[in-house]
Amino acid sequence: MGKGGSRSGAGRPASHVKAEHCRRIEAGRWAREGLFSPGRTGTWSWWNADSGERTASIGYRGEGQAVALNFTVDGRSVHQFIAELQTACNFGGSRSWFACPRCRRRVGVLFLRSAAGFICRHCGRVTYGSQSDDEVGRSWRKQQKAERRLGGEGWMRPKGMHQTTRDRLTAIIIECEERRDNALAAFVAKHFPGGLTRW
Ligand SMILES: [Zn+2]
Repeated sequence: MGKGGSRSGAGRPASHVKAEHCRRIEAGRWAREGLFSPGRTGTWSWWNADSGERTASIGYRGEGQAVALNFTVDGRSVHQFIAELQTACNFGGSRSWFACPRCRRRVGVLFLRSAAGFICRHCGRVTYGSQSDDEVGRSWRKQQKAERRLGGEGWMRPKGMHQTTRDRLTAIIIECEERRDNALAAFVAKHFPGGLTRW
């Protein structure tokens, strides 16, 4: 059962891009640092941890529960409007997510794929460097099982399914996503001690 990193229905991608080689943005961090705040503008940059050189940057403007991005990639000027989604936490407060501009999935991280701009790893077929780890593999299988019960797409409630069942399955999927986000963060912390992103 389970096929490691591949998703049910998606098939095995022909080519993988390692996530740690991609520019990524994190909804939780952007919310904490206030990038969604209406009227706030600035530049978000990536730096080479070893040389201290700035390797890339994008312009952003907070729109209140959304952010407008403005950048140039491969000589092409790109404008993206990315919505922020929030879920309530068990102990108060809320957690922030992005809505993938392409598929609308709720995700913690978006990756820059040149022609497409920032999209989720489902759309961009980004794999994690640590994906073969047992824990990550287990979380994929658990998530696939929950997604299959929800009919593949993940966020719809199949006919006849109780709302509580749907909520429970959704919670499992979110937990699995988080587990792998954390695994990726640990991978990045280990291999890029200075961090990929900073002001
Ligand atoms: Zn997507």
